[in-house]
Amino acid sequence: MATIADAGLTFTTSAHPAPTSAQTRSDVLANPGFGTNFTDHMVTIEWTEGRGWHDAVIGPRQPIALDPAASVLHYAQEIFEGLKAYKQADGAIALFRPEANAARFNLSAQRLAMPELPEALFVEAIERLVALDRDWIPEGEGSSLYLRPFMIATEAFLGVRPAKQYKFIVIASPAGNYFKSGAPAVSIWVSDYTRAAPGGTGAAKCGGNYAASLVPQAEAIARGHDQVVFLDAAEHKWIEELGGMNLYFVFEDGTLLTPALTGTILPGITRDSLLALAREEGLNVEEGRYSLDQWREDAASGKLVETFACGTAAVVTPVGRVAGRDGEFTIGTGGPGQLTGKLKSRLVAIQRGEAPDSHGWIRKI
Ligand code: PMP
Repeated sequence: MATIADAGLTFTTSAHPAPTSAQTRSDVLANPGFGTNFTDHMVTIEWTEGRGWHDAVIGPRQPIALDPAASVLHYAQEIFEGLKAYKQADGAIALFRPEANAARFNLSAQRLAMPELPEALFVEAIERLVALDRDWIPEGEGSSLYLRPFMIATEAFLGVRPAKQYKFIVIASPAGNYFKSGAPAVSIWVSDYTRAAPGGTGAAKCGGNYAASLVPQAEAIARGHDQVVFLDAAEHKWIEELGGMNLYFVFEDGTLLTPALTGTILPGITRDSLLALAREEGLNVEEGRYSLDQWREDAASGKLVETFACGTAAVVTPVGRVAGRDGEFTIGTGGPGQLTGKLKSRLVAIQRGEAPDSHGWIRKI
């Protein structure tokens, strides 16, 4: 892989003048939660039309100054990523498939008319931040340092066109289990809202997609469920994904099915990793279409035995109950299924350095 020096960039590092005290940090690490605590430093890299990427800095984490006319604030020209650094069994620090996040980031950038960031620069920015803030990685089971790279349009201009200035930023947040309850299985609500239409931005990780998912998610919570599941926009029939996770269906004959990447769902890196692991297990894995009606029918007949959601934040989470306007149904026993547990353990063991990394997914820092 090319280094950032090839891009004519060198990082400037300035340590935080007043870093968090060791006591406060260890309090956070003892009970990290999700997304509420942050490390001491951040990365920023600027992009200007005609100049490209410049001024790569790792410095104290602090508020950013934006002109009130900055395009991101008006037209939502913003993309982001989410990945984790793990403290492995032998004390090493490892990233899981950061190159895959770099590649997806650039696909998102293309869709949002933003400049692409060289993959090596994306990965190096993350590696440097994790190395500097390495004392912030929690060690407990299910814990990690969640990394949030993102890019915003900073140009002060109110016309509707791609901006000519951007800022790439990486922040880091110690994370425990994503679901507070540590629920054995989640309950999901089938939304009447649409997340993404053909030709839209569903396959991009842009903030706007998530803004539009907040009302459907709030509705799911109000109805007593944990998560929302979206159907396709054209027929409102085919299952797509949850607000922040992909789905897998497990059949009694051992077949696994996950909705195909048709352009309206996010190409999850966990989804992709599980495809590879399941194939390695000798399972028949299909990417295709699955309708809500079929899901209900197969759950009732026992043909479908498990369903699970997967993503970086919550890893692999069993789905126990599904409800929508047409009533509700239970999957299997309503609790965690066998294959779900097995695939989760295999993935977590690789991330934790407790199983061989035969796919070259681990990048040690
Ligand atoms: N779908 C959506 C809409 C998401 O936001 C995420 C989280 N990035 C995923 C799926 C899962 O993707 P990944 O496995 O790369 O975290």
